[in-house]
Order: sequence, then C-alpha cells, then structure tokens
Amino acid sequence: MDLVIEQSCPSCGAPIVLHETDRLIGCPYCEVKNYMIGGGQARFALPDKIPSHIAREDLVYIPYLRFKGSIYYCQGQEVQHAVIDTTRLAITADRLPASLGLRPQAMKVVPVNADHVGHFVRQTVQPEMICNQAIKLTTLFTLEQKQELYHRAFIGETLSRIYLPVYLQEGTLFDAVTNLEIGRAGSSWSAFVNQTISFQQSWEPRFLSTLCPRCAAPMAGETDALALHCPNCQSMWEEKDGQFIGIDWQSVRGGREGELAIPFWKITIEDGQDGELKSLADFLRFTNQPVVVRGEDENLQLSFWIPAFKLNPALFLQIAHYLTVSQKRIPQGESEILGQAYPVNLSHQEAVQSLKCVVAAAALSKKKVLPLLPSLKLPPGKITLVYLPFHDMGHDLLQEHTSVAITSAALRFGRKL
Ligand SMILES: [Zn+2]
Ligand SMILES: [Zn+2]
Repeated sequence: MDLVIEQSCPSCGAPIVLHETDRLIGCPYCEVKNYMIGGGQARFALPDKIPSHIAREDLVYIPYLRFKGSIYYCQGQEVQHAVIDTTRLAITADRLPASLGLRPQAMKVVPVNADHVGHFVRQTVQPEMICNQAIKLTTLFTLEQKQELYHRAFIGETLSRIYLPVYLQEGTLFDAVTNLEIGRAGSSWSAFVNQTISFQQSWEPRFLSTLCPRCAAPMAGETDALALHCPNCQSMWEEKDGQFIGIDWQSVRGGREGELAIPFWKITIEDGQDGELKSLADFLRFTNQPVVVRGEDENLQLSFWIPAFKLNPALFLQIAHYLTVSQKRIPQGESEILGQAYPVNLSHQEAVQSLKCVVAAAALSKKKVLPLLPSLKLPPGKITLVYLPFHDMGHDLLQEHTSVAITSAALRFGRKL
C-alpha cells in the first residue's frame, strides 16, 4: 500500500499531498515544480493529537522502518520472488507495538521537520533484520527446505522511517496519535529518553529546480519520474548526489500513430573483462535458449534490456529475458523527439542489480545455471535509456519489433509498487 504524505511546497509553503514514490512536485498554488532529492532515507511522523496539558517538547518519537520493494531469490532450482511491504519497530523494546499495522496508510504522514521539537529515539535494529523478518512471513519462501541460496536481490525498494509519537503521563506511556494507553513505562524509561536526539536539519527533504541545466527551459516528467526530459533541447536528466546529471538516451521509432514510448535500460556488458558473457551468443549458449546461434550473435556485444519502470516481479524478469534474447531485432534509436512516454520509475542502479536474476530466469536448465551465479561476472559498461514504441491492442501493449507484450493492467499495477 501507498503512503500519503502532507508536504509543504518548497517555493510557497502551501500544503501539497504526495505519494511515497513522488519526486516531481507540482504546486497547484504557485505552479512551481520542484524535484525532491532522493538517496537518504525519508523520515515521516504520524500526526499526533496530544491533550493540551502535554508539552510538545515531551513527545518521544519511536522509529519504525518501512520497507517496500521486490525481492528475488535464486534458490535450489527456482527463481522465486515476492513483493514486500512492511513497517516494523526499529528498536528492541517489548512494550511497544512491533508494527504500525495499517496506520501509516490510513492517515497522512508528515515529513519530520523543525516543528517536531520532541525526542527522537535512535534506530538500533538494522534494515537487513527487518527485511529478513518480512521475507519469512511470505508464503513463497519455504526456507526450511534448506535449498542452497545462490543469489538474492532487492529491486525497486523504498526504505523510510516512520516515527510514532508517544508521551508519558503518571508513569504510563500513551500513543500520541490515538491517546490510548500503551503500558507502564518502567524504570528504564528516563535512561531511554536520555539517549534520544533532537530533530536534525539534514533530515528535511531537499529540492532542485526543474529548469533544464543546459538551456533553462522547464523540464517535463510525471510525478514519479526518475528521468526528466527537456522538450526544448532534447536532453534527459537524472538526479545524482543532489544535482542533475545528463543521461544518454534514444527513442526507437515505430511504424504506427499514437504509440506509447516505454523506457528500458540498455546495459551493455563491459568488454575486455574476464566475464563469461561477452556476446549475445555467449548469453544464448549459457542460458540454453532454444534458438540457432548465428555468426552475427558472436559479434554483437551483450546488452541486457531491463524495464526502467516497476512491474510485478514475474513479469519484470520475463520482459527483461525476452527483450535481451531478441535485442538484435531492435533498430537503432535517435535522441530527437520523445512522443507520449511512460515515466522512468526504476533507476539504472536498481536495473543493474537485476542482471543475475535475468540470467537465472532465462536459463532453460536452472539446475545447471543457478550454481554458477555466485561467480558469474557481469560488469556493467555503457548504460543507455532507450524508449521502445508499443502500440495499444486493447488489453495489451505490443512492441512491434520484438513482439514483446505488456498488459495495460500490469503497467497500472507497477505504478503502485
Ligand atoms: Zn507553491
Ligand atoms: Zn534543455
């Protein structure tokens, strides 16, 4: 489920309602668009409703870690996956609720800011622990089978902290959102509060102007876009370490009117390394594809074609597999005009993490290929964002050069991941 966030406009201060994955924030009041810098873990607080005799300075904020993303396991003779969406207590304390349940989704959370004058408890449980707990709860992972785990990847994850405000009243702890009793605070509470820290300026979200760094024209993109396009000088940008960096991009033309340009990361494997997979022919042989390997496949440097957008895990691997196998049918693109385009909402860093899973998913004999994954070297070289034309067939969107199809419903589902 999605978090709904009440953020103030960085330009005029007006309240704006955002979704968890939103990066490009358009203000309906001042009409300025700002781009939220990612990277750090976002910090949110549940809104409190404390009684008037409790001072805001006495609120104690308890950290919960929220993890949302797809996890892939290459284990035994299978590639398994699950979508994980969990919010768990990030400190060791038996008196406090272990999970926030559905509360973060049922109310608007606010980014932690200077108005939160109380005490913030430091997180002591590592994100890894919280992920592992969540994995054990998924029905997919029958870990008691003790099959060897060859490779594991988290893809498209968001990690954030959500603070639950609590207060002490006559020795009893209260939840400051509901004003319901949590339990007796116990004698260690004051020592616990002494170890807290106050709000840090660096926790606040930071923003970039969305004017093109090259020509200063306004850039375009949807709210969850990780790549912004300048329709004036035809450049493409992504945020890295707090600034916009140019991206190599191309758009492949199709033969029909009204096509949708859907983005993929073309990740070419670096040449000259000691990796086993250098050419397309290497990939076809390694994964035992039921195709005839031709001379031209030997000369074509291997590129992986990974969706630059979120999809359910099974479809994500399937589309990456099909496009990678049929890459020689995709014509060269141009970086000229981008028509109607689907937003990039999966970064190339995330896409790179999926490469071994794509090899595993493509392998005809998983028994033979999965044990080779730990030592398989796939050093990413040149990365290009390529938009491929898809035309609407009603239920499906069809890619004319490769016949790869994506259902419209799967794209809609992916926007919510
Ligand atoms: Zn504004
Ligand atoms: Zn420009």
